[in-house]
Amino acid sequence: MSSALIPIEKALDFLLRAAEENPHVIDVALPEALGCVLADSQRATFDVPDFDNSAMDGYAINTADLDKAGVTIPVSQTIAAGHVGESLAPGTAARIFTGGKIPQGADAVVIQENTRAENGQVSIMEMPGKGDNIRLRGHDIEKGSEVLTRGHQLRAQDLGMLASLGISSVSVKRPLRVAIINTGDEVIAPGQPLGPGQIYDSNSFTLEGLLKGMGMEVIKKGIVEDSLSSTEAALTSAAGDADCIISTGGVSVGDEDHVRQAVENLGELGLWKLAIKPGKPFSYGKVTGVPFFGLPGNPVAVFVTFAMLVRPYLLKIQGCRTLTAPSLQIKSGFTLASANSRLEFIRVRLQTNANGEQVLEAFGNQGSSIMTSLSWADGLAEIPLGETVTAGQFLKFIPFTGLL
Ligand code: AMP
Ligand code: MG
Repeated sequence: MSSALIPIEKALDFLLRAAEENPHVIDVALPEALGCVLADSQRATFDVPDFDNSAMDGYAINTADLDKAGVTIPVSQTIAAGHVGESLAPGTAARIFTGGKIPQGADAVVIQENTRAENGQVSIMEMPGKGDNIRLRGHDIEKGSEVLTRGHQLRAQDLGMLASLGISSVSVKRPLRVAIINTGDEVIAPGQPLGPGQIYDSNSFTLEGLLKGMGMEVIKKGIVEDSLSSTEAALTSAAGDADCIISTGGVSVGDEDHVRQAVENLGELGLWKLAIKPGKPFSYGKVTGVPFFGLPGNPVAVFVTFAMLVRPYLLKIQGCRTLTAPSLQIKSGFTLASANSRLEFIRVRLQTNANGEQVLEAFGNQGSSIMTSLSWADGLAEIPLGETVTAGQFLKFIPFTGLL
C-alpha cells in the first residue's frame, strides 16, 4: 500500500481478502460450545415439540361435544406433563397441565380460570375455540428445517435450542490461538513495584479480554524489551504456537521501535498509516507464514484498531458469517467545532437528555493514552472525516457489547 493515509474501508477490504478461513474442526460438548463457530449447519431431525401439548393448566375437551358455555361434564382422566393419557371419552374433559400431551379426541384446552370444578365434574364458563391453548406438534421447529447456519457463533440461547433437538455435541471451528506480544522497555507486568519511568502493561489485558470474548484462545508471550534480537525471538516463538500474532508498541519509526525490522527479517510486513484517529500507525504482515498485526502502543489506539480491523479479520479466519459489529444511529448530545483529517472514533456514553431522548455524550479527554475514556464509555461514535458535529445530528454508534 502507498504511504498516503489509508482509509479504513480500504484497509479492511485488503485484510478480509487476505484472511483465509481456518480449516480445523473439532467436536465439543454443548456447554463448551459457547462462543464457538458452527462448522456445519444444524437441522432438526424431528419436530419440536414432537407431540401436541397443552400451553396452560386446564381441561382438554372436544369443542364439537359441547355447544354452550356453562355446560357441566365429567372429568374422565388427569394428564400431567410427561404422562400419556387415554383417548378422550366423548362428552368428558381431561384435567391437563402445561406441557401435558393432548389426548386423542381433544381439540382445545379450557384454561383453569374459565372453569369451576366440583365432585369429579367441571363447568365450562367460557367456551374455547378449536385449537385454543394447544401447542401443536412442530410449531417451534419443523423436522428437517435448518435451525442454525454454518458460521454462526453460538450464544447461550442457541445452546438451549440445540439441546431442545436432543443435540449434545456440535462440530465447531477450533478456536483460533492468538499470541500477544507487548513491546517496551518501560512496560512491566502489574503485581510488581513500579520503577522510575515505568508503566504497567495494560494492552495485553485488554486484548486478552477481547479475544476471549470472541471465543478465541490467548497465548501471552509477555513483555518484550526493545531490542531486535528479543523481538525476533518472541515473534519466532509466537509463530510456532499460534494461528495469528498481535503485538503492541514498537511499530512506529523511532530508534527503539524494532517490530518492523524483526518482522521483515522473519517474513514480510506492510506498515500502514491509517486515516483513523486514534490508531494511525498499524502494520500487517506474516511471520514465517503466520499472520501478524503490529498495533500501536497507546491503549486506546490498540482498542480501536483491534475492534475495527483485527476483529473482523480474526472472525473471518475463524469462519464466522458476521464480521462487522452492530451499530446504531443515535443523536449526538455534543458539538465538535473543528473537522478532522481522519475518521475519528470518539468514546461516548448513552445519556437521556431533557426531552427524554437518548443522546451520545463524549468523554472529556479523547487522547489515545486515556484508558479511563474506554472504561467510562458505552461505545464508540464515528465522526466522519472532514465533518464537524452539531448537537442533534445523528452519529454512528458502535456499542462495546457488540464487540465481544
Ligand atoms: P510505542 O508505540 O512503543 O512508542 O508506544 C506508544 C505509547 O504506548 C508509549 O507511551 C508506551 O509507553 C505506551 N505503551 C506501549 N505498550 C504499552 C502497554 N503494553 N500497555 C500500556 N501502554 C503501553
Ligand atoms: Mg515502545
